[in-house]
Amino acid sequence: MHEFSIAAEMVDNVLEFSRAHPDVEMLSVRVQIGELTCIEPEQLCFCYESITRQTPLEGSQLEIETVKAIVRCRRCGYEGSPVYWNEAVVGVGIATMQCPECGSSARPVQGHECLLRTVQVVTRDHPEPSVAAPLPITPGLS
Ligand SMILES: [Zn+2]
Repeated sequence: MHEFSIAAEMVDNVLEFSRAHPDVEMLSVRVQIGELTCIEPEQLCFCYESITRQTPLEGSQLEIETVKAIVRCRRCGYEGSPVYWNEAVVGVGIATMQCPECGSSARPVQGHECLLRTVQVVTRDHPEPSVAAPLPITPGLS
């Protein structure tokens, strides 16, 4: 399962951060997920919850920020939203790599993101939530 391995890798990275900062309690983890990754946010949250059970991350929230797809056409220079193909079976628009201006094939320039952005934490000395950002670690996913 795609989402499961991504969530596992994210949790690993955040646990590493947590081990390096043992007096920190994690409140939430914010991630950026590109539209072209085919990651289901609900699935990812569900996997996150089950993986973090009985770890220092248990009870923390996974916040997902969706990154819209952007394509660039080499033929006419168009850059912007891709053409969406309405998939009747799954009921969602699927980005195609076709230039909406000239119809030749465009290349994605944005939308493949799968990044850990920030973690919101509290520490014993600072009971007010603060943001530790950005994490120097990102899952090596495409
Ligand atoms: Zn074009």
